[in-house]
Amino acid sequence: MEHAEFRVKAKEMVDYIADYLENIRERRVYPGVQPGYLHKLLPTEAPQQPEKWDDIFKDVEEHIMPGLVHWQSPHMHAYFPALTSYPSIMGDMLSSALNVLCFTWASSPAGTELETIAMNWLGKLLGLPDCFLNEKNDSPGGGVIQTTASEATLVSLLAARTRALMELAKLNPELQSSELLGHLICYCSDQAHSSVEKAGLIGLVRMRYIESDENQSMRGAQLEEAIISDKAKGLVPFWVCATLGTTGSVAFDNLREVGQVCEKHSAWLHVDAAYAGSAFICPEYRHWLDGVELADSFAFNPSKWLMVNFDCTAMWVKDSTALHRTFNVNPIYLRHENSGKAIDYMLGTQKANTRRKFRTKDDGENFDKSPNTKSDASIVNEVDNDKHAIMNGDLKKADDVEVTDRNKDVSDDKTDDTNDLYNNERNLHGYNKISHGCGKTIQLENPDKKEMLHWQIPLSRRFRALKLWFVLRNYGVSGIQKHIRESVRLAQKFEALVLADQRFEIPQPRNLGMVAFRLKGDNALTERLLKRLNARGFIHAVPACFKGIYVIRFTVTSQRTTNQDILDDWNEIKTVAKEILIDVFG
Ligand code: PLP
Repeated sequence: MEHAEFRVKAKEMVDYIADYLENIRERRVYPGVQPGYLHKLLPTEAPQQPEKWDDIFKDVEEHIMPGLVHWQSPHMHAYFPALTSYPSIMGDMLSSALNVLCFTWASSPAGTELETIAMNWLGKLLGLPDCFLNEKNDSPGGGVIQTTASEATLVSLLAARTRALMELAKLNPELQSSELLGHLICYCSDQAHSSVEKAGLIGLVRMRYIESDENQSMRGAQLEEAIISDKAKGLVPFWVCATLGTTGSVAFDNLREVGQVCEKHSAWLHVDAAYAGSAFICPEYRHWLDGVELADSFAFNPSKWLMVNFDCTAMWVKDSTALHRTFNVNPIYLRHENSGKAIDYMLGTQKANTRRKFRTKDDGENFDKSPNTKSDASIVNEVDNDKHAIMNGDLKKADDVEVTDRNKDVSDDKTDDTNDLYNNERNLHGYNKISHGCGKTIQLENPDKKEMLHWQIPLSRRFRALKLWFVLRNYGVSGIQKHIRESVRLAQKFEALVLADQRFEIPQPRNLGMVAFRLKGDNALTERLLKRLNARGFIHAVPACFKGIYVIRFTVTSQRTTNQDILDDWNEIKTVAKEILIDVFG
């Protein structure tokens, strides 16, 4: 395809997309196809010769569309929302066309900087504490866009694991990492998403599931009991995942209680708010965030409810150094001359979190007088094996720089606690306080160790900040709040309809935009109801099970859902329920 054809066909594609979204109600939300249907329709070999665009695209409507679940449909109630929106689509169109890879600042400066800015905007909109933001380049905290919540959970677990292993290795130098790994244990509630279990499997660590209370919430007392009992067995609790908005019932772990336990036992606290995180843009839902300042990392999916199309998971960490330690590699082809002046999401130079004191031949006086001022924020790095320091924004050669360990002179500055990770025993979130029974002091890594910053598992990363930035600007805070509140209002409407019908019940209180309901009686009735509803294809939902009770999850997903859509869906549910009850009871 050449430019001229692209101009015509891409415009047609835009019309196709707009028609699709405008008329989505006309499509059956759940496909009626059987496994293997597409194999029967498409050739088994790729074409030898180029095919005409019109021929290719004809197959989309004829063969692909009938095999899709239409996630943007107002009759889609399965899972959680996976919404898109026009500004988001345009962000992705542009990002796809530019196809810049934003792993280092140098690989795409605007890509990196826009991500930092958009993540700061978003963090503030949620009401996250300042320690998670990266407004000044010398902050150890910051946000990064990951691909999925699962990946954010894994990244967090791996960072915490590295931190714990480093400490254990100092205490037990005779043991290999693989032996130390066997001592680690982490925790989540019995309602946590399967991705938490998966992170434990990948991380090769034991996971203990804490029984949730009657509101499906993990409480501090149960967590602490488990931690104490595990410590008595010689295990080392190192990571806890709290969920805000569980997948089954949108339940909320008690973040303050859990956070206090984590703080006391020096475990890393990760918060998985995959779905519910979007709601915190509305201040009336922020009470669930109480205690978030105790967390080490926090993630949610704008790709769910915030109308930023997949993929986009917002993750913030209080201390990005912990990630960098975990994913630390440093090939020469990824270094650049501006290392240290900006974030590199895949890698970069040491920022202020490993900052040292410097004295340059021409600038020493000034520095000595005010060692902690921002203008002195200095970074040591190795570029092509030469030591460099950034002094007041300039890269200086090591010959001109005298490096001293600031901790020898600066003892009680609170911000410095998080900054001097490699040579300050007070750091690592109090890890020096943990004795694990032997009371040894932990000597951390060599302060002169070369370090590059890493925020994620892959190297390459798309320019995802563009679509997030477009959505935040085009909707504005008021537009996003309106969207969230409307979803909740429609869920309340559905809840009222269910509660008014004696044949149905809602075993768990509704939170936000999801209602988990069932037919009264045996689970088999609700199972049959759901199966038949999905087979008819007018609405689509999935089940959940809490403590043996089978429910249908009804999530309000689309920003296009109206009162009438909810009424239509409820009529469909009642019609099918009536058929089933007649089948079973006559
Ligand atoms: N955590 C929770 C609470 C979820 O509900 C989900 C998915 O719905 C996930 C994690 C996984 O999200 P992702 O698909 O972004 O990995």
